[in-house]
Amino acid sequence: MRLGKVNLQVVSDGTFWEDGGGLFGLVPKVLWEEFATPDEKNRVCLETRCLLIEGRQQRILVDTGLGDKLTAEERAFLNVKGERRLLQNLANLGIGPMDIDLVINTHLHADHCGGNTIGEGTDGLLPTFERATYCVQRLELADALFPNERTQATYRLENLEPVQQRGQLRVLWGDTRITEEVRVVVTPGHTRAHQCVLIESEGEKAVFLGDVASWPVHLERLAWVSAYDVEPLVSIETKRSLARWAVEEHVLLLFEHHPQIMAGYLHPTERADRFWLEPVEIE
Ligand SMILES: [Zn+2]
Repeated sequence: MRLGKVNLQVVSDGTFWEDGGGLFGLVPKVLWEEFATPDEKNRVCLETRCLLIEGRQQRILVDTGLGDKLTAEERAFLNVKGERRLLQNLANLGIGPMDIDLVINTHLHADHCGGNTIGEGTDGLLPTFERATYCVQRLELADALFPNERTQATYRLENLEPVQQRGQLRVLWGDTRITEEVRVVVTPGHTRAHQCVLIESEGEKAVFLGDVASWPVHLERLAWVSAYDVEPLVSIETKRSLARWAVEEHVLLLFEHHPQIMAGYLHPTERADRFWLEPVEIE
C-alpha cells in the first residue's frame, strides 16, 4: 500500500503456535476464548508479519520473524511449517537479501529477530542481509546480552553476534529519526526498550506496533497484557498514550501477530480503558 510517498508491504515469516496463557497473561481463558480458538494443546496461532518500507532514500525491513535456525524440537513445539519463509516471500516481491538497506528490530525476542542471521553452527552464521545496518535499542541489546532467568530462553546470541562481529549493528539511544519518513519511538513494557516504528509521509501516519499490542484486543482492552511483558503496568500506560494518539491523529495501526487482522484504525468507546478497532485490508 502507499502511505504518502512511501510504499508499505507486509511480508510474512509464517505462523507459529504458542500457549494462550502466554499471549493473554492474567486474562482468564473463558474471556480470551472469545477471541481465539486454541488447539488441543491450548496453543493459539500467531503470524510473524514483518514490514517492508520503501521510501525515497532506503529500503527498510522491520523485524525478521523466527528465521530458520530452530531445532526440529523447537519447530514441533511451535508448530512452525516450511523454510526460508521470509526470504521466499521477499523473493516473490522481487527483493533479494542484498536489496535491504536497513533492518529495524522492534525488540530482540526470538520471534522478531530470528531471521537476522542465517547459516549453521556457531562459525557458519552470517547476517542474512549482507549490506544492511541493523538498528537495535541500546537497552534492549543490554537485556539480550545479559538476560535473566525469565528472559534467557528468548534472547539468543546467534541472532545478534554475527551482526555485531561484521560491524553491521547500529545501537540506538532512545527515540531516533531513521529516515525522512521513518522514526523509532521507545515503547516500554513488553521489554524495557521495545520500540515501535512510525511512518509519516504527506500527512499520513502509520505505526508498526510489534508486541506493544500483539493482537488488536491488547489495544482495545488496555488491561489485557501478555504474560511475557516484563513490566506489565508500564505496558498499560504505553498502550494508553499510544491508543489516544492513534485515535486523535487517525494513525493506521499495523499488527505483527494476529493471524487475520493486519491493520486498522482505532476508535474510542464510552469507557476510557477500552477502544475498538476498525480493521482495514491492506495490499
Ligand atoms: Zn512477538
